Amino acid sequence: MSEPIIKFDKVVKRFGDLTVLDELDFQVEQGEKVTIIGPSGSGKSTVLRVLMTLEKINEGVVYIGGEPLWHESRNGKLHEASEAHLRKMRNQMGMVFQQFNLFPHMTVLRNLTEAPVRVLGMSKADVRQRGEELLDLVGLSDQKDKYPHQLSGGQQQRVGIARALAMRPRIMLFDEPTSALDPELVGEVLNVIRRLAKEHDLTMLLVTHEMHFAQQISDRVCFFDKGKIKEQGTPEELFKAPKEARTQEFLKAVL
Ligand code: ADP
Ligand code: MG
Repeated sequence: MSEPIIKFDKVVKRFGDLTVLDELDFQVEQGEKVTIIGPSGSGKSTVLRVLMTLEKINEGVVYIGGEPLWHESRNGKLHEASEAHLRKMRNQMGMVFQQFNLFPHMTVLRNLTEAPVRVLGMSKADVRQRGEELLDLVGLSDQKDKYPHQLSGGQQQRVGIARALAMRPRIMLFDEPTSALDPELVGEVLNVIRRLAKEHDLTMLLVTHEMHFAQQISDRVCFFDKGKIKEQGTPEELFKAPKEARTQEFLKAVL
């Protein structure tokens, strides 16, 4: 098998006395769709935040596409990562947050085109065309000139997904993308993610409490507990025949 696209090697993350990632070993293969489930406070969001370089780690190494996230080799020596290196790593990933975090003063289309023009230096015409294709993909072509506050939560989150995709990431990270939504709006967002999961080459790492959905789209489900993977397997294995008592207990409470 080729090199994993994401690899955590004995990663420790602490906040003061609290160990949030406890010598975590975790990897994701190119194109794999992986779901992280687990109790609140088990370190799920921290995994995604570390990948986006929003949190530094205390020990271990994180690799993206085989390259260390926090270090780079220059002249045959390993140095602390430069801002340019971090940006290069970050640009391979798109993240969708629980709170949609759209730019409130920009139209829907402008939310999608701003970063590709500014950060990637792509031409306005190309970016605009790509933006319109992505709005079509998430079913919002007719909303492109509206402002975020004029949209429902479900529509805003679909814009959030399109905006992340506009940066042409190899990896999409989702942190409880439907948790802030009214129940009747959850389905439309899950449908968009479901559609994306069919993209063969796109790697997806998703934290969710939607167990039925996780079962449908995941190649692999990881159950996190206290900063470690307590148990992992195919959805079939994990949901139908969990081995660990802790997993059984968690699933009994949420299913
Ligand atoms: P999860 O997403 O699984 O609910 P998180 O990864 O968000 O868990 O958090 C893991 C633990 O780390 C929690 O106990 C949380 O309170 C703590 N934590 C997260 N961010 C910070 C921070 N910036 N400062 C202090 N503690 C934090
Ligand atoms: Mg979280």
